[in-house]
Amino acid sequence: MKYDVVIIGAGPGGIFSAYELVKSGRNYNIAVFEMGNPLDKRKCPIDGKKIKSCIGCETCSIMNGFGGAGAFSDGKYNITNQFGGTLYEYIGKDRATDLMMYVDEINLSHGGEGTHLYSTADTKIRKLCTQNGLHLLDAKVRHLGTDINYVVLQNLYNELKDKVEFHFNTPVTKVEKKDGGYLINTSKGDFEGTYCIISAGRSGSKWMEQVCRDLEIPTKSNRVDIGVRVELPSEVFSHLTDELYESKIVYRTEKYGDLVRTFCMNPKGAVVNENTNGIVTVNGHSYEDPAKQTDNTNFALLVAKHFSEPFKDSNGYGESIARLSNMLGGGVIVQRFGDLITGHRSTQSRIDEAFITPTLNATPGDLSLVMPKRILDGIIEMIYKLDRIAPGTANMDTLLYGVEVKFYNMEVSIDENLETLHKNLFIIGDCSGITHSLSHASASGVHVARHIAGLE
Ligand SMILES: Cc1cc2nc3c(=O)[nH]c(=O)nc-3n(C[C@H](O)[C@H](O)[C@H](O)COP(=O)(O)OP(=O)(O)OC[C@H]3O[C@@H](n4cnc5c(N)ncnc54)[C@H](O)[C@@H]3O)c2cc1C
Repeated sequence: MKYDVVIIGAGPGGIFSAYELVKSGRNYNIAVFEMGNPLDKRKCPIDGKKIKSCIGCETCSIMNGFGGAGAFSDGKYNITNQFGGTLYEYIGKDRATDLMMYVDEINLSHGGEGTHLYSTADTKIRKLCTQNGLHLLDAKVRHLGTDINYVVLQNLYNELKDKVEFHFNTPVTKVEKKDGGYLINTSKGDFEGTYCIISAGRSGSKWMEQVCRDLEIPTKSNRVDIGVRVELPSEVFSHLTDELYESKIVYRTEKYGDLVRTFCMNPKGAVVNENTNGIVTVNGHSYEDPAKQTDNTNFALLVAKHFSEPFKDSNGYGESIARLSNMLGGGVIVQRFGDLITGHRSTQSRIDEAFITPTLNATPGDLSLVMPKRILDGIIEMIYKLDRIAPGTANMDTLLYGVEVKFYNMEVSIDENLETLHKNLFIIGDCSGITHSLSHASASGVHVARHIAGLE
């Protein structure tokens, strides 16, 4: 079967490439290959009753399927070049911003209308941060929320399904270069495409490494972010979250000079498990619908770890730390901040006695047995700093879930069109290593589609 364009992965990168190619009016014959399920069949078996923790499904419904890793996410579309990826280094800041705004318009016209756009412009919180040694990054944030994000994805799918051939439950095993295109080996046979767009996301990172080795595409990899997810009563952060929804705050530690940052803030949200390549880590999300909201706010505190030669396996380092928490806790570990700083393992009774109810059923434990000292010291330092701008952050009952690991895909060598050294082979979204967010991944899809269609 031969197509004009084959797209690997139906996450935001793949969806927005397909959307823009259809919209180009070129009548391309397009196929999307996705290892996971269609949106309505994506269901994580963890129900909190019969199945309490990850059972390692063949494809993870949280990470794989239509909508990609973002399908059940909080749907925070950050319109900024200050975080979320380095797409701007390839396509320029103005263009990256324009494309993110364009994606925002599409989301609004597909069910996202009426959702709130937050902005850091003119906020007094910046001054408060600066006075306390913290740095607030600039961004506009469209918060769709998990529920509206789902509606937008469903609407996009309904619009595309008759114009694009979707092959679900079809992992691509190999990409081969052929005369005039690419041969895609899948579990359901071989397919060909004149153009090939790979958007396999973070869950496809290991597979992507193999593709790059096979096709001799140069890569580099040297970063991983390791930390914890903090959960506290929503009132503690409400002055920040009410105004900004998500505040990205960066701190340079006094002890080591490491950068610690807040990441993925979920006001009145829930902490969730995340399964990457069989390793259970922690993440969070929240709903726009007040009926689904909780009394807690959660966010990650991450320490960026850059490695220099000769060490190359930064993701392997992060995985080993996550594996340690899985080994000790059978999954994610939760600890009260008070227990951590007084050197005690949290027990179920200490967690039950706390003035906060955890939103994730994790194993009470001791994060100091899992996290490297340098990283844990940085997190503790930042919690005390945050306590100055949001008193209560350093309360004894504040919950820390570990570990949260932000794996970075290796950076793939691509040009300003996001094209590899092989003509008509594009690598976009998180699997390229240059995007780490919904907005940047989506924008990269639009960028490549317009290039293929010759619309630029
Ligand atoms: C729980 C959670 C919450 C998040 N919240 C936010 C947020 O609020 N805001 C934000 O900006 N970002 C968030 N993110 C990150 C965001 O989801 C990703 O940055 C974004 O989805 C990347 O898009 P992508 O298309 O590059 O990859 P993905 O969304 O990962 O999609 C890749 C797709 O490719 C498929 N695939 C992989 N390998 C193959 C293969 N070999 N064959 C066929 N298919 C394959 C996968 O199944 C997957 O569906 C969150 C992530 C998680 C996990």
